[in-house]
Amino acid sequence: MFKFRENIQSITPYAPGKPVKEVEREHGIKDSIKLASNENAWGFSPLVKVAMEKAIKEANIYPDGNSYYLRKRIAEFHNVGIENIMVGNGSNEVIELVMRTVLSEGYNVVSSEYAFAVYKIITQACGAEYRATKSKHYKFDPDEIIAACDKNTAIIVIDNPNNPTGTHISSKDMLRIAQFAKENSILLISDEAYVEYVRAKSYGSMMDHLKDFDNLIVTRTYSKAYGICGLRLGYAVADKKILELANRIREAFNVNLVAQYAGIAALDDQVFVQMTVKNTHEGIDYLYVELEKLGLKYVPTDCNFILVEVPHHSLESFNRLLRYGIIVRPMHGYGLNNHIRLSVGTMEQNKKAIEAIRSHLK
Ligand SMILES: *Cc1c(COP(=O)(O)O)cnc(C)c1O
Repeated sequence: MFKFRENIQSITPYAPGKPVKEVEREHGIKDSIKLASNENAWGFSPLVKVAMEKAIKEANIYPDGNSYYLRKRIAEFHNVGIENIMVGNGSNEVIELVMRTVLSEGYNVVSSEYAFAVYKIITQACGAEYRATKSKHYKFDPDEIIAACDKNTAIIVIDNPNNPTGTHISSKDMLRIAQFAKENSILLISDEAYVEYVRAKSYGSMMDHLKDFDNLIVTRTYSKAYGICGLRLGYAVADKKILELANRIREAFNVNLVAQYAGIAALDDQVFVQMTVKNTHEGIDYLYVELEKLGLKYVPTDCNFILVEVPHHSLESFNRLLRYGIIVRPMHGYGLNNHIRLSVGTMEQNKKAIEAIRSHLK
């Protein structure tokens, strides 16, 4: 027998949202609307398009392995040094690189129930133990998270705000977790993939506290508010000691040439981001009103999606909505058997989604 690792065999693979064409092929439908992967319904900035067109012409050369100009631009954007920036093939990759830098058998990672499924997969792949603490009303519980740590805890990882619940941990509680982690030599990853959409007053990005915590890694993505998930680009901001180590295990050309150009241009167009955020908030407010009219419970969100409680099993709801051409994300994989996650789309898409939900309830 091949020498497969035990810990790899026990991994449940991540179930990504399927491409529209695949779903349409499987279910014999067409003109469907995908509200399953928290993508940007308004596309991406025209500046990004120009940058990509320029980049395409250079596709016969290797990209800059250090992503110098991109990292320089990101560093300027956050007012940190270039040595505090690591870029990756999606923020997924930078999270994985940081985790692989510290994890091995015998260590554990602490997060919460309903956290982003990717963290557990990376932890298991490293042979470490994953601890998901109980949440409270779909929110991460900072006391539970702190209580779950022991001398073998290497990392606390928190997506704030969280996918798939849309809830957040307050700035006060994050600082408490960061302080505890620092005192116990634990790395804290604050995955801020949805930071642009947050409206809650009690929220604060951990980006403002990097100077106080050399154990803190903040990750951001271009996949959501910047709308270029197809290019795969994300980054970490952290103390250079951590990034210097993570950099050693990074594939030399992990960020492709088109993504490097696009990432610079995307930061230059904050008007596009503001438009996306404004439209998303309008969509969320519309969905709140309509879901209430339908008597459906939802979890108030600080992201570009809403977790909705449905009367049928998650998978049954997913299938029923598909018949109306609406692709949502079933949630039973997260232990949320009566929930679906609905990404916010254009107002026209949101209206169609509500129509489909109304019909499927019958
Ligand atoms: C979408 C998402 C990301 C972004 O992943 P990329 O690899 O940058 O596309 C990261 N974390 C969470 C929680 C997400 O939902």
